[in-house]
Amino acid sequence: MRVRLSVYPAFHYSNTPSFRVNSMNTAKLISFDLDSTLIEPTFTTFVWEIGIPRLYAKKNNVSLSEATSIVKGEYDRVGEGAMEWYDIDYWFRFFELAERWQDLMEEHRYKVRPFPEVKEVMEELGKSHDLIIVSNAAREFIEMEVKEAGIEEYFTRIFSVTSDFGQVKKTPECYKEVLKAMGVTPTNTVHVGDHYEFDYLIPKQLGITSYFLDRDGNKPKDRYTIKDLTELKNLVINHKPSP
Ligand SMILES: [Mg+2]
Repeated sequence: MRVRLSVYPAFHYSNTPSFRVNSMNTAKLISFDLDSTLIEPTFTTFVWEIGIPRLYAKKNNVSLSEATSIVKGEYDRVGEGAMEWYDIDYWFRFFELAERWQDLMEEHRYKVRPFPEVKEVMEELGKSHDLIIVSNAAREFIEMEVKEAGIEEYFTRIFSVTSDFGQVKKTPECYKEVLKAMGVTPTNTVHVGDHYEFDYLIPKQLGITSYFLDRDGNKPKDRYTIKDLTELKNLVINHKPSP
């Protein structure tokens, strides 16, 4: 699915408590991707693929399917390597939409849903680990999703790679900056997410224990592939291997 970043100033919660330090030779920090890892993709997909095309169709008096094709064509033309691609404010100005993007998001915020196991798993993991989010979603999306899903309380800090590090993807530099900011080494850290390259291969290369979240079971199962976050909890807390 489409993942967006923002070009907004550095973002993290200002009431972030300081992280705990322990001397155990085990992971103390668990880092999560956000979209399609903690939160179902329904909301963001709707905003980009239906919400904006609908507004475009209304403004230009064209059918929804025509609008969808034009809007997606423009997304593709800009491409995901460009900051603008992730910037909802840019697109509202580009398509000269009269509505406010904030209203579009507000109107559909009820579509934000955490995956069913998320709260229980965060509750449990949070007892023994610091939990953070490392996302390349736009700041305005992250804020709304985390609040609406009711999962804000579980996380000590939330990083947006664009806002905080000026990157459009989770590069090795982003992970290094996260480790530095949290005062942990790769061996003390676990990361999990649904993007094979940016959530699994890259953090793994840095020595972070990484798990690929494959909810749809598209990849052959191995010890670093999990199908939901309950499996992660079992691996981290109970040291039970995946089946
Ligand atoms: Mg994701």
